[in-house]
Amino acid sequence: MNIHEYQAKEILSSYGIPVPRGRVALTADQVERAAKEMGGRCVVKAQIYAGGRGKAGGVKLVHHPEQAQDLAKELFGRRLVTPQTGAEGLKVRRILVEEAVEISRELYLSITLDRATSRYCLIASAEGGVEIEEVASTAPEKIHVLDIDPFTGLRSYQARKTALALGLAGSVCEDCVELILNLYRCALEKDCFLVEINPLVVTKAGWLMAMDAKINFDDNAIFRHREYPDMLDYSQLDPLEISAGKYDLAYIKLNGNVGCMVNGAGLAMATLDVLQEFGAEPANFLDVGGGATREKVAEAFKIILQDSDVKGVFVNIFGGIMRCDVIAQGIIEAASEVHCTLPIVVRMDGSKVAEGKKLLQESGLNVQVGETLGDGAARIVGMLDKN
Ligand code: ADP
Ligand code: MG
Repeated sequence: MNIHEYQAKEILSSYGIPVPRGRVALTADQVERAAKEMGGRCVVKAQIYAGGRGKAGGVKLVHHPEQAQDLAKELFGRRLVTPQTGAEGLKVRRILVEEAVEISRELYLSITLDRATSRYCLIASAEGGVEIEEVASTAPEKIHVLDIDPFTGLRSYQARKTALALGLAGSVCEDCVELILNLYRCALEKDCFLVEINPLVVTKAGWLMAMDAKINFDDNAIFRHREYPDMLDYSQLDPLEISAGKYDLAYIKLNGNVGCMVNGAGLAMATLDVLQEFGAEPANFLDVGGGATREKVAEAFKIILQDSDVKGVFVNIFGGIMRCDVIAQGIIEAASEVHCTLPIVVRMDGSKVAEGKKLLQESGLNVQVGETLGDGAARIVGMLDKN
């Protein structure tokens, strides 16, 4: 789960990590007032669930409150496209107005879960800022990675080694040791998948400060933090993902044109692989889970059809717990309700499969029944080619 920069900074600040003075605003007038409060000269920062905002025009230094207001009018409601957002971009609904800090150096610091070692790792680079991806690809030796042993936790000497690797000395180095230990405490206690400070800056006055912050909570730990769901900004999420969440369905958007409805994550993966093998590109997949009802199948089907990229639907269900006739009824109900004329291929197996197939064949929909996974995939490719 993502949160905004200003929320991440509030959390970092509660762990004693210095952040710039700032205010979050929802209107251009609020931006102007906040800019006045900062003394006129300030940084206006679009809040979206993605990085790369600086280069996309979403982070700008302004010199007067009126200039801040004009920029805010331009940013609010605009879709900001960055390398992390995809072509459609993300809509700006909140703006952070911050004091403009005189920066002497920009460093990179993060703690993230390394899936390969199943441990947290500390990542640091003396060359932080907006070019960090460039540094990672052209000079990976400049990125220092340290595995953290969960038994001993992060030790001060390890934090000090990292601070030294960042080229810091004296009191700033000691401040950095404390900051790194606090960052680790934050990652652990808040169940973060990622806590990233890029850039961590050394100010001209010689202090450390988190100039940007990104926090990603581990979805599996949200139940331990009652306040997290309230922090979500739904305007930053795909509306179809929100509807799927309401019905407890897992929906993932992809880039192709075949909508996929499956039951179980493993079957979903296999379905995507086989579809690609037959030359089809999945537009999404929706996992209806084990004991789905007819209503749930119908909702799932409607969500798939709302994705305008979908030109055909492939249903691949193993009816172990689910009965195939129930699935068929759900599909027929949903497809008829939204007058779906798109090609549909259903491949199902398990209890009441004969009854399910019969219902589909007599439904009057543009539907074919696949006997095997391969047969089903070939059929949907064939039907799409004809369209
Ligand atoms: P993003 O990573 O999405 O591009 P950042 O918050 O990192 O956004 O901002 C981009 C750059 O803007 C930073 O690397 C920093 O140089 C500058 N910047 C951001 N906030 C401030 C600030 N409050 N004062 C001065 N410079 C800032
Ligand atoms: Mg940044």
